[in-house]
Amino acid sequence: MADQHRGNGRTAPQPKPQPQQTEKANGLPVQPGLAYAADVVGLTHEGKGVARVDGFTLFVPGALPGEKIVVRAEEVKKQYGEGSLVRILEPSPDRVTPLCRVHENCGGAQLSHMRYEAQLKAKRQMVIDSLQRIGRLDHVRVHPVIGMNNPVRYRNKIHAPFAQKNGHLVTGFYAPGTQDIVESDHFPLGHSRIEKAINTVRRIADEFGLSAWNPQTRRGLLRHAVVRCSFATGDLMVVLVATGDRLPRQDELVGLLRAEIDGLASLCLNVNTGPSGEIMGDRTVVLWGADTIRDKIGDIEFVISPRSFFQVNPVQTAKLYNKALEYAGLTGEETVIDAYCGIGTISLFLARHARRVYGVEIVPDAVEDARLNARINRIRNVAFETGKAEAVLPRWRKQGIRADVIVVDPPRKGCDRRLLESIIAMGPKRVVYVSCNPATLARDLRILEDGGFRALEAQPVDMFPQTAHVECVVLITRL
Ligand code: SAH
Repeated sequence: MADQHRGNGRTAPQPKPQPQQTEKANGLPVQPGLAYAADVVGLTHEGKGVARVDGFTLFVPGALPGEKIVVRAEEVKKQYGEGSLVRILEPSPDRVTPLCRVHENCGGAQLSHMRYEAQLKAKRQMVIDSLQRIGRLDHVRVHPVIGMNNPVRYRNKIHAPFAQKNGHLVTGFYAPGTQDIVESDHFPLGHSRIEKAINTVRRIADEFGLSAWNPQTRRGLLRHAVVRCSFATGDLMVVLVATGDRLPRQDELVGLLRAEIDGLASLCLNVNTGPSGEIMGDRTVVLWGADTIRDKIGDIEFVISPRSFFQVNPVQTAKLYNKALEYAGLTGEETVIDAYCGIGTISLFLARHARRVYGVEIVPDAVEDARLNARINRIRNVAFETGKAEAVLPRWRKQGIRADVIVVDPPRKGCDRRLLESIIAMGPKRVVYVSCNPATLARDLRILEDGGFRALEAQPVDMFPQTAHVECVVLITRL
């Protein structure tokens, strides 16, 4: 029986269970609500510590490999459970003070208690583990992760939900997996101008007596402040997401926001009356200034509207795309397909080095943005099509389009099986796979390998420092 630590200072002491009752309760070495000493032996892909109590596994947010901790069992299943960190008995040498004052609750920066170099090592290991365990791909060379020199304040966009506390407006983060808002005026991953803008919006909106939307009662006005900052120009776009299409004393409010937000270039109101889930609704009105802002990745310019998807870490995105460009091995003669092309970022990045680029993307608005971005950069050797990549590629193949290089950058669930089959049928010289999920990456690489390709090397790039997210780009050639 493991040591049980009760009365840890955070919760009321629990009555001591009788051993026989414990056995009857679930027949496992741990009981929900009780605390135990544990060794942390690993890190999950979500950034939780893997703690062992008498051989039983508990996943513990905030715990690091090599630590001895006191953990309270929360939810316990047959094979494993979830735990919460009560106390650290022996800290890891990689432990640092987390960035965020509400770190334990906000759930956004799951690894900010870990030294940055150790985060990078852990992320490389996550890629290696997935490739080996899921894809049996031991031969792939996984390079050290390309990190940031300054891994804070890297995000160009933050969305902060509003709530009402003690009659005042507050901003914060959603607690993981809930609609509860953990109050915070500190947004350490966002550009400092973004944090300042959110705090200014909250203060002024509160002075105007505006209410926050309450997802339970479905009443109230302000839902989110979404703030974007162009790293190229310093311009800010502030979008107030609200349940109405006019704000009380709107002109006066807009005047104050204009006067007090440094670098404001676009102030918009987005109307969202729907349930929680989507941050923005379909309708956006410009309250003042432009309806878009512009940013750059490398020397390509992008026009960004309030609802467009744009990579959130522009500094690392440039490094990622340069790696994709290198892996594509272009000489200027190639035909390239960019499946899952979004607003055309990778397509345009590669177009200057290729003969022709075809992009396909499922979201019509993103395809419109991609075409506009091609125009403003005067790039003419690209064509974008709306549709599912797995449906459009076979059609292109029938039309006689032969790709020398195919780039894929799918969402977390990875590539559709039919897309992988069309890639195999098209037989390009190279495939460049940009992935935000090592597990689906490994699954898809196995399919490509079985179809006559070989994955040679993987370059992870840290797009999301302080979080457990891992991005990487893989070079695959036809055998
Ligand atoms: N390469 C882009 C976007 C990558 S995000 C960039 O770097 O900015 C993945 C994109 O795939 C999203 O834009 C999503 O809308 C799109 N998508 C999702 N499923 C798709 C499918 N079946 N076919 C084509 N595009 C899809």
